[in-house]
Amino acid sequence: MEDCIFCRIANGEIGKLVYENDFVAAFDDLNPQAPVHTLIVPKKHIENIEALEIGGGDGKGCHHGMEDHEQKVPCDGKYIKEIFKAIKEVAKIKGVNESGYRIISNCGKDAGQTVMHLHFHLIAGKELGDKII
Ligand code: AMP
Ligand code: ZN
Repeated sequence: MEDCIFCRIANGEIGKLVYENDFVAAFDDLNPQAPVHTLIVPKKHIENIEALEIGGGDGKGCHHGMEDHEQKVPCDGKYIKEIFKAIKEVAKIKGVNESGYRIISNCGKDAGQTVMHLHFHLIAGKELGDKII
C-alpha cells in the first residue's frame, strides 16, 4: 500500500518513530489530544479490526503466530500480540505506565476512522476527561 501514509511512516520512509520492532511501529499523533498521544500500528497494511484475520486467514486458526511456516509469514494474530507488547513498551518510554493511559481504536464509519490502516491511540499524560463508556 504505497499510498498509505501509515505504511510509509511505519516503514521509516517519513516521520519519526518512537518505537519499532519487526512487526509494529509507534509514532506521535500529528494532532495530539493529550500531552502523550502516540499511535501504535502494525507494519503490515491491515485496514482495521474488522479486516483482521486473527486465525491466520485459512480459517483453521494459527497457534504458532505463523500463517505460512515455510515462508515464515506471520498471521494477523502475531501482529495483535506484538501491538499489545508495543503498547506496554511505549507507555514505559513515555513514562506513563504507572500513571495510566487510554487505548482507543476507531473502526469504520460510525467510529469516525479517518486513516484506513489499523492503529491504536495511546492517550495519557494528564487526568483524562469524561469517558464515553
Ligand atoms: P482515526 O480517526 O482513529 O482514524 O485517527 C487518525 C489519527 O491519525 C488522527 O488522530 C490524526 O491526527 C492522525 N494522523 C493523521 N495523519 C498523521 C500523520 N501523518 N502523522 C501522525 N499522525 C497522523
Ligand atoms: Zn497502510
